[in-house]
Amino acid sequence: MSAPAKFIPDPDGRNADFYRHLAGGTLHLQRCEGCSQVFHPPRFRCARCGSDALAFDPSPGKGRIFSWTVTHRPVDPGWAAEALPYATVVIEMEEGIRLVGGWRGTLEEIRLDLPVCAEVEPANESFGLIYFAPVEQGD
Ligand SMILES: [Zn+2]
Repeated sequence: MSAPAKFIPDPDGRNADFYRHLAGGTLHLQRCEGCSQVFHPPRFRCARCGSDALAFDPSPGKGRIFSWTVTHRPVDPGWAAEALPYATVVIEMEEGIRLVGGWRGTLEEIRLDLPVCAEVEPANESFGLIYFAPVEQGD
C-alpha cells in the first residue's frame, strides 16, 4: 500500500493568483500600483491607499527567519513520508511581508534572522509549495 497523497488545496479569489504563480515555479508578491506597498495574503484593495490597482511582481525570494516550529509527528498522513522531524518557518521577506514555508536546511541551522532564499515546488496547475533554504553569508 502506497503512502496517502499530500492534501493539495484548491485556492480561489485573490489567493488563486498568488498560488498560480507558484504553480508556474515562481514567487510573485502582490504590490499596489498606486503606492508600491507590498502585502500578503493577497487583497482586493490596498490597505494603505485604498487603490484597487494591484499587481503581482516577481520576488527575488530573499528574507530572514522570523520564527519556526518543528513537527515530530505529522497530523496529515500525507506528510508521514517526510524526514521527521521537519521544520516549518515564518520568513520576514525583504519586501516587508511574512511568508510561511517548509524548511530545506537542517534543524541545527535554524536561528532567528538567518538569511534564506525561497524555493518553489509546483504541485499541480493551480498550486505550488514554498520552501526556504539557508543562504551563505555574503550572497
Ligand atoms: Zn496603495
